[in-house]
Amino acid sequence: MNVVVVGGGFAGVKAAIELSKRHVGKITLISDEPYFLHHATLYATATGRDMAESVIPLTTIFEHYPNVTVVNDKIEHIDPQRHILNGKNKQYHYDKAVLALGSVTTYFGINGMADHCFGIKSIEEIKNFHTHIQKALVEEKLDKEYFIVGAGPTGVELAGALCEYLCHLIKVHNLKHTKCRVTLVEAAPRILPRMSNTADEKVMIRLKKMGIKVMVNHKVQALDDKHIVIDGRKIPTTTAIWTSGVANNPFFAAQGDTFHLAKNGRVEVNHYLEAIKDVYVIGDNNTVKNSGQAWPAMHQGTFVAKHLARLATKRPPKSYFPRKFISGLPVGEDWGYVERFGIYADGKVGAWARRQVELAGYKQLLPAKQARDVWNAHNIPEIDV
Ligand SMILES: Cc1cc2nc3c(=O)[nH]c(=O)nc-3n(C[C@H](O)[C@H](O)[C@H](O)COP(=O)(O)OP(=O)(O)OC[C@H]3O[C@@H](n4cnc5c(N)ncnc54)[C@H](O)[C@@H]3O)c2cc1C
Repeated sequence: MNVVVVGGGFAGVKAAIELSKRHVGKITLISDEPYFLHHATLYATATGRDMAESVIPLTTIFEHYPNVTVVNDKIEHIDPQRHILNGKNKQYHYDKAVLALGSVTTYFGINGMADHCFGIKSIEEIKNFHTHIQKALVEEKLDKEYFIVGAGPTGVELAGALCEYLCHLIKVHNLKHTKCRVTLVEAAPRILPRMSNTADEKVMIRLKKMGIKVMVNHKVQALDDKHIVIDGRKIPTTTAIWTSGVANNPFFAAQGDTFHLAKNGRVEVNHYLEAIKDVYVIGDNNTVKNSGQAWPAMHQGTFVAKHLARLATKRPPKSYFPRKFISGLPVGEDWGYVERFGIYADGKVGAWARRQVELAGYKQLLPAKQARDVWNAHNIPEIDV
């Protein structure tokens, strides 16, 4: 069997690893970036922590799986009749294709947002953000108010980390008279909408204790290089970081005739995560319950590998059942919140538990010793910009 996996993120990498372990035949992993991005720690990398915990070269992961060929290319089109994936550089034939392209940012058409906001979804965005902070430090022009738009887990954990980072910079650079505040803006009536009410309550208390201003039920209407407009009020700032709004990868909408898309743009799949004959769509790209998070993406990657191994050995297929995984977030270095099945831990215990979940995640992708090294990169002292 010739399996081509597209996408070097959580779902694609996990699928390729599990296919490799099962020796299903020829396995090719195609990704448009040469590295795997560990999104859950990008908030830390964006606020001075070591890059190593967030960026892992695909060659490092697959040096342990020599039967996987890693190719750096961008897939632009699929021809399901001919079983061909058209890349920017060349064409790839497949018997089975696994598409795991992840999601992209959307700005909901907010005036000026795409041009003026910062992001933390890619290395380039993080570098831009660092350069911006560095320039402001050198010129002693830190903003009075730093805005984070979107109070999902990414926005909240970034708020905690940014608050501590700014305090650290002010102290290290002896900017005694500089006062800045982090403000979290959310259009919905509460923070962490996909988590429990307890999460909302506990994390709100923590944010307030850290001095972070939280504005729920407030809509950002516009952004330029000097101001943000929230509910008609123009507030001076040069820094707004967008952590809201994700949309499905445009690859699928561009081939709306091939794929069946739900209202939210994600791809409909059957019980085996198959979207069309011999093409599986996994991770953030499909409509399966709990998709949109890292652990479900890896779970689906494993499922598809097992499924294809069953087909290769002519065993009857089994259906996919979504699983709910532990969810949580850090808010500052020594505080975290985790929950599963109505049980939660917060504070130092929550921070410890969240770190353990991260370590378990790295172990899904790397041998134990290497996983621990990457995980420990979080403790490398902060780089002073
Ligand atoms: C900032 C941030 C923080 C997050 N924090 C958490 C968290 O704490 N916990 C959690 O569970 N989830 C978190 N998530 C969500 C989680 O990262 C995603 O659900 C997960 O990455 C989905 O995995 P995936 O494989 O579907 O997509 P991705 O991991 O995004 O991988 C997609 C891959 O496809 C490649 N690609 C895209 N298009 C093409 C193409 N045309 N051709 C070839 N390759 C292509 C990309 O380069 C990438 O390697 C976070 C997301 C972000 C952005």
